[in-house]
Amino acid sequence: DGVAYTEVRRPCRVMILVNPHSGRGQALQLFTGHVQGMLTEAAVPYTLVITEHQNHAREVVRKADLTQWDALVIMSGDGLLFEVINGLMEREDWQEAIQTPLGILPGGSGNALAASVHHYSQSPPAWNEELLLSCGFMLCKGLVGSMDLVSIHLASRQRLFSFLSLAWGFVADVDIESEKYRHVGAIRFLMGTLVRLATLRVYQGRLAYLPVKEAPKLPKGSIKANHPPPTPQHPSLCSSLSCRLIPNPSPSQKSHHNHNSTNSNHNTITKSSNNAITTMRPETQSDGKAVALVDSLLPGLDQPVPESWTVVREEDFVLVLAIYQSHLAEDLWTVPGAMADDGHIHLFYVTAGISRPALLRLFLAMEKGAHLACGCPHLVYEKVKALRLEPISPQGVITVDGEMVEYGPVQAQIHPGLARLICG
Ligand code: ADP
Ligand code: MG
Repeated sequence: DGVAYTEVRRPCRVMILVNPHSGRGQALQLFTGHVQGMLTEAAVPYTLVITEHQNHAREVVRKADLTQWDALVIMSGDGLLFEVINGLMEREDWQEAIQTPLGILPGGSGNALAASVHHYSQSPPAWNEELLLSCGFMLCKGLVGSMDLVSIHLASRQRLFSFLSLAWGFVADVDIESEKYRHVGAIRFLMGTLVRLATLRVYQGRLAYLPVKEAPKLPKGSIKANHPPPTPQHPSLCSSLSCRLIPNPSPSQKSHHNHNSTNSNHNTITKSSNNAITTMRPETQSDGKAVALVDSLLPGLDQPVPESWTVVREEDFVLVLAIYQSHLAEDLWTVPGAMADDGHIHLFYVTAGISRPALLRLFLAMEKGAHLACGCPHLVYEKVKALRLEPISPQGVITVDGEMVEYGPVQAQIHPGLARLICG
């Protein structure tokens, strides 16, 4: 049922989920052409799962026997990883399940996480096949670090988990409208941006957030910081490369969930150096059953935001973008200092009144991560732990990790180091 096996020489330890329709519809050809040989050479056993429809990957990982897998890797765009993460978090054993190392091979048109992971490895920028080779190489090396996730509450009380972004306004519209240009690949975002610029509009809504540091005593309202120039160098981008994944299965192998052991039967060399994971890991009940993950920073969506939050004075926006990786797309280096596990939601918003040329300049500068140095008075950047967005405009688009979600009030909070990511 959509599960194809290749080279079943020994137990398969890496599940590679491929969306054959992602990007230009060539993910499978790209895999066989560029990655397959590399994995064979590195003796990484894998099983290919070709998705047949939307949410197929979500169902597969929700039901999978995770003791059989050392890693879940997706060969697609960011949308397929969004499915996988939410499938894991929907499981009864989500606490263990979300510890399964996740990997990404860029096969879609929106490959933000792949571009980010490549950037964290401190390699010079790469695109297309070169980016794919870089990610394939990382999979062979099998270094695993931690990755923040953001939980997102929608008006219908649905909760989603996100690894990349929450967007409203210009960015969300471009993401969804440019779906129709997916055959051109990653350049669809530039085309979408140009089209949207021509019909630039203002989006009304209310925005509030919990800043990472205690806000200095400023009058209530938006804080327009003097933007520091982007840091040119990026030391230690993956701050907690805590273990290595070495797919070298032996039949006597124990469950791969036991990441913090140094069991010799076990195929991970472990040295957990990240306190954040330990402290943030949700508690387990005495009967061993996982408890629900609580969003301790978020009041109900029908309650006012706490006093400690900053309420943005403006209500007319061109875009609101919360992002928790360095790249929004292969050629959009949105957060110069971001790490996969920095514990921050990087909140950007652009207020109404920005001219078309100025907005275009921001996106062009973003290729080099230089947009914050543009001195644009309409662009605001804050590091936050939680945020709430309440659109007033009656219709619109909100995206989570590039996927359209229910339109309406939405709030989010960070969970530092909740997931694990193959990187570096
Ligand atoms: P892209 O970057 O090209 O948009 P994504 O990985 O984001 O690639 O996938 C696009 C959408 O396709 C996502 O919503 C994903 O859930 C969905 N999807 C996954 N597998 C399939 C499939 N076999 N057929 C159709 N849609 C799929
Ligand atoms: Mg996508």
